[in-house]
Amino acid sequence: MNKTKTKEDVIKYVQGVSIKRGWKLNPETDSTLDMLVEGLRDYFNMVGYFNCPCRESQEDMKLDRDIMCPCDYAPLDIEEYGYCYCSLYFDPNFDFSKFVEMIPERRSLE
Ligand code: SF4
Repeated sequence: MNKTKTKEDVIKYVQGVSIKRGWKLNPETDSTLDMLVEGLRDYFNMVGYFNCPCRESQEDMKLDRDIMCPCDYAPLDIEEYGYCYCSLYFDPNFDFSKFVEMIPERRSLE
């Protein structure tokens, strides 16, 4: 069985997550969104799960469980800043005319 994911598979996945969680996807479909989708696809095809495209994988699902997309930190980041660490998912009321800055890493790196 072929378990590799295509970009289209990943787009369907992130669309499904955004609908289920009531979030919006990054509207920059040709740049940021495209890059994040490719990152998720590449991680999936390398390690077998959707490791966060902005964080290094330990290549062990147990160690990376908290950063499997959507990560454990996304709801709090979206609530506090309006978007997740990678700026893949947004609060549906986010003002997209605002500059999307890098937000602090909420995950403990110890
Ligand atoms: S920061 Fe965003 S893209 Fe990264 S795992 Fe969390 S929800 Fe997914």
